[in-house]
Amino acid sequence: MENSKVSKVIAIDIGGTNIRVGLVDSLGNLEKNTKLDKPDISQVSDLILTTIKSFFNEKELQSASYFAVSTAGRVDNEKGTIKSASIGRGILPLGKDLKEEFGKEVILINDANAAAYGEYSKLKDKTQNMVYITMSTGIGGGAIVNGHLLFGAENSAVEIGHVVVKEEDYNILCNCGHPNHWEAFASGKGMPKFFKEWAKKQKINLEKDYSTAKEIFEAAKGGGQTEKKFLEKIGEYNGRGISMILAVYNPDIIVIGGSVMHHNRDEVLEPMIDNIEKHYKMPEIIVTDSGDEVCLLGAAAYAFDNLSS
Ligand SMILES: [Zn+2]
Repeated sequence: MENSKVSKVIAIDIGGTNIRVGLVDSLGNLEKNTKLDKPDISQVSDLILTTIKSFFNEKELQSASYFAVSTAGRVDNEKGTIKSASIGRGILPLGKDLKEEFGKEVILINDANAAAYGEYSKLKDKTQNMVYITMSTGIGGGAIVNGHLLFGAENSAVEIGHVVVKEEDYNILCNCGHPNHWEAFASGKGMPKFFKEWAKKQKINLEKDYSTAKEIFEAAKGGGQTEKKFLEKIGEYNGRGISMILAVYNPDIIVIGGSVMHHNRDEVLEPMIDNIEKHYKMPEIIVTDSGDEVCLLGAAAYAFDNLSS
């Protein structure tokens, strides 16, 4: 520690369905946190500002040197804005709003990049080359190469869910509007639709119409043979996605997080590892121990290292 005084940040994570707000100290301890349902984009700033004022007392608020915001989509730190299809149409000026209301510095960071940085800060002694992947509502990622977090021209490098992974002639549209992306097949949101298309191709008559990935995983865990076979197929697509990551970033370690992974570790990991192309150096593959707070803690870690109090 360079500063003897432990400083704190208020971290905010805008996820697919929830918003998390927490007070984090520079040792990575989450002192106090809350979870909110995500409203319409027009109400996101107001809800966060109101929550900060009511959830933290004056002393806690004063103890925070700055705000760290993790969010899906693209961030503009100069303008203090966020643009993301998963938040809604339009621009969210949350960075600007926080700064105006509380007079503290704000740092905005893409959620997968935040998670990648947070995980890297725990692994620094072990490696300078790692990739974080989130398998959740969508699939995303962040990469640390030679100790540097990769941002890209629009702060959206390593949007790995949007690479094409098809081998058969499927034509499944991704959330982003383009066909056959990894996320369209193997994300929590994509799996139910892919399950139907896959079954059709296999000439399997489905008895059930699944609307969530959770139901498919539960059926497989309960012994459903069709669902188990489908998860083997998902393993092929995940294996191909990971192989691309190995080809491009050459990591020592891949850390995986996100709800699809957390709740179905064996069902996802095993078939995925079986399908990673063998000609690459096999990295260590681990699941994050930060759970649902991985982006919140990552944004805080990034703020501590990149903003001076
Ligand atoms: Zn896409």
